[in-house]
Amino acid sequence: MSLDGEYDPDNLFARILRGELPCAKVYEDADVFAFMDIFPQSRGHLLVISKASHARNLLDVEPAALATLIAGVQRLARAARAALKPDGLMVSQFNGAPAGQTVFHLHFHIIPRYGHEPLPGHAEGGPANADELAALAKTIAAEVS
Ligand code: 5GP
Repeated sequence: MSLDGEYDPDNLFARILRGELPCAKVYEDADVFAFMDIFPQSRGHLLVISKASHARNLLDVEPAALATLIAGVQRLARAARAALKPDGLMVSQFNGAPAGQTVFHLHFHIIPRYGHEPLPGHAEGGPANADELAALAKTIAAEVS
């Protein structure tokens, strides 16, 4: 899918937001929703999405919604740092399939980095164990302030 196009209300993350599909939820407020990535590139890889905006990517999003979303990304990144004590934190975001985007509801990845541990490619991580993801979500959630 290119950079242009219509928002699909039945995309994966819209369905997770509506509770139609399960997820390991970390955080939710009026504007922002955060949950664990099921194909994590590292321990604690999470996703942060806007609840209100129907933007497919960074280019579509209303500036006010982006401001709220990026503040949420900072809040979750701080919580991941406190919970998991990584050596670094990568924040990434992809626009359009050629750039690596696979779900067309704007989202940011927060990917903790540990020492020189190699990073699998985007969307190349294996599926995570559901119980481990739930435990990680709980650990990170406890540090959200
Ligand atoms: P994108 O490739 O669009 O930047 O990111 C989409 C992310 O969603 C990928 O990192 C992928 O691992 C993750 N993902 C794909 N399917 C699911 C799912 O069913 N649940 C969750 N929690 N994450 C998913």
